[in-house]
Amino acid sequence: MAKLRFDSINQAMNRLPGEVQSKSEKISDYYGSMVFHSDAMRQYLPSEVYKRVEECVRTGQKLERRLADEVGAGMKAWAMSKGATHYTHWFQPLTGRTAEKHDAFFTPSEVGRSIESFGGDQLVQQEPDASSFPNGGIRNTFEARGYTAWDPSSPAFIMGVTLCIPTIFVAYTGEALDYKAPLLKALQALNDAAVPVCQYFDRNVTRVNATLGWEQEYFLVDSALFAARPDLVITGRTLFGHSSSKGQQLDDHYFGAIPERAHEFMRDFEAESHALGIPIKTRHNEVAPNQFECAPIFEEVNLAVDHNQLLMDLMEKVANRHNFRVLFHEKPFAGINGSGKHNNWSMSTDTGVNLLGPGKTPKTNLRFLTFFINTIKAVHDHADLLRATIASAGNDHRLGANEAPPAIISVFIGSQLTQVLDDLETRIKEGPMSPDEKTELKLDIGKIPEILLDNTDRNRTSPFAFTGNKFEFRAVGSTANCANPMIILNSIMAKQLADFQKDVDALIAKGTKKDEAILNILRKYITASRNIRFEGNGYGDEWVKEAEKRGLSNIRTSPHALGAYLSDQSVKLFSDLGVLSRTELEARNEIHHENYKLKIQIESRMAGDLAQNHIIPAALTYQGSLLASIRNMKDVYDQKEFERLTKAHRVIVSEISERVETIQTLVTEMIEARKEVNAIENVEENSILYCEKVLPYIEKIRYQVDKLELIVDDEIWPLPKYRELLFAR
Ligand code: ADP
Ligand code: MG
Repeated sequence: MAKLRFDSINQAMNRLPGEVQSKSEKISDYYGSMVFHSDAMRQYLPSEVYKRVEECVRTGQKLERRLADEVGAGMKAWAMSKGATHYTHWFQPLTGRTAEKHDAFFTPSEVGRSIESFGGDQLVQQEPDASSFPNGGIRNTFEARGYTAWDPSSPAFIMGVTLCIPTIFVAYTGEALDYKAPLLKALQALNDAAVPVCQYFDRNVTRVNATLGWEQEYFLVDSALFAARPDLVITGRTLFGHSSSKGQQLDDHYFGAIPERAHEFMRDFEAESHALGIPIKTRHNEVAPNQFECAPIFEEVNLAVDHNQLLMDLMEKVANRHNFRVLFHEKPFAGINGSGKHNNWSMSTDTGVNLLGPGKTPKTNLRFLTFFINTIKAVHDHADLLRATIASAGNDHRLGANEAPPAIISVFIGSQLTQVLDDLETRIKEGPMSPDEKTELKLDIGKIPEILLDNTDRNRTSPFAFTGNKFEFRAVGSTANCANPMIILNSIMAKQLADFQKDVDALIAKGTKKDEAILNILRKYITASRNIRFEGNGYGDEWVKEAEKRGLSNIRTSPHALGAYLSDQSVKLFSDLGVLSRTELEARNEIHHENYKLKIQIESRMAGDLAQNHIIPAALTYQGSLLASIRNMKDVYDQKEFERLTKAHRVIVSEISERVETIQTLVTEMIEARKEVNAIENVEENSILYCEKVLPYIEKIRYQVDKLELIVDDEIWPLPKYRELLFAR
């Protein structure tokens, strides 16, 4: 068996790099050993400082600047005891991945001497050379300052020899330049709105945290094959490639035995994840060949987001050691399932209650219904915004492609809960209810958990499905930073719960009893949000028609979906909540459009290059050898025999000529289309036109190239084929 190299575990266990992990080691021996969490803090910080940090994390308060020096000193001592030599502020700019800038703990002082310098200043704030991150025009270069600021709610960790300090990234002028700053604000807004609603049911609740359990899908491809596919290297997906004679039709990969080499990779990255405190729990094969999934135990959203970003980096790093490349792209292979990142989401209280988990009594179930129905209402009112959060060039290939939920946002709750809501809608009366009616209603509400236990409904075709004690937002793409959908989901929920409280309090002020007021408002919401609920097959054409009748949006492509960020409703929502200002939204909108355009531009150039420099030459070489063979045959056979025997040759020769000519024309036209579109200044128009005018050429060229793949000699075909990419183990 290959020698496993668990770098960070070795470090944690004080072993030399490359030493073999002993079989007797338990996960609990090294779990979280590379994280500056409670135990480490207690050991390395003075006890008042430790208590204050814990309190700040728990309550969301700000840590006093004067304590930062002590935290910095403790953090450094801990990190150096684990062999760290450098530190970095680790942040999530709008590029979609993470960024870091490493500085040594050491600063040279006099000649030949150095002092270890890392204190409160370095902990709390850094000024990365910022002009090279996307900023959507927020930061003009003359004031190109951006700051990273420590986020104590996500613990510091060590990767390799570097202490990584999770931070937010903001402009000199205060605007957010990353995903984390607005996420933290959205989570705070949710807490502020959810706590008073919880208090209708339990006065002891003082804090509500949103929870997230993501499921990460990915493909593994052998490094050597990957390197021989310029399209995979440059764009993350195969722009060409005829489907393999065997694809996923036998469904023999899903939940099958994990191939040994992939298994070793998984064990390796899981062990490293565990050392970093990422609670990875499940792994299995996915539907497509060489496609896999991993998922952790759910965590508080901010932490879960960091852990997902960290895990993606880690997987890429570990994959190199196993001569694999990880593909996170939403659709690396045409005709084969793509990858998603389901976001399982709920809310929990500091009294230990999952707010989307049904309770045991009428009262706790009324609380469940309150959060459940408010979620549906929030999704109903802001469906276009949710659609916008999952928009990306990669995800466009997936949404609605009969393997992933459609671009139409709807909510699935299962037949039993549908029955419950229908029932509530008809039984709750506008005016006062009789004592009998009330008692009976409460009794029935008390029965919900029994109902749910039997409720095994699973609808894999729904973009937003209730799965027993959480909602699963299934339309999120596999490359996405979960922060994006989480900012939106928690913001719209915050707004919805604040409205709910206002509505209920208004009724109470008019003399309605609390429970009745709650039921009354819930009934209204059930009626108002009925349209968004859909229990049927989300992949079917009937749903597209039905959704249109209901007036639901079906925005198939990203640049068209992004507009929702800047609707009057959204701008008001985000500024009321203090999550994102109009300037920040405009900047983000620009970045998203620009990003989309660049992706398609790169794909289009790559497709052109590949076609002209790889495919056409190979096709012409093969054609040349056919022509040579035809000429040779002429010397050997008489005219009649010659014509009979070279028929097949000549058919192939002309097919190659025709396809090559078509490809040439398409490539030329595509370049022209790019030129025309590039001349347009407005980023929004620009990305829309890239989608409408440039992207279709890539598909048309692909069609011709894939046909050539079928006739050209396998020996000289310049790209590894699907059967190799998908079935090499
Ligand atoms: P699947 O959707 O594949 O059938 P499960 O329903 O078992 O899988 O769970 C999927 C994910 O849901 C897990 O990663 C888990 O962490 C997450 N999850 C479970 N409960 C919650 C919760 N209360 N909040 C957020 N995520 C949760
Ligand atoms: Mg799932």
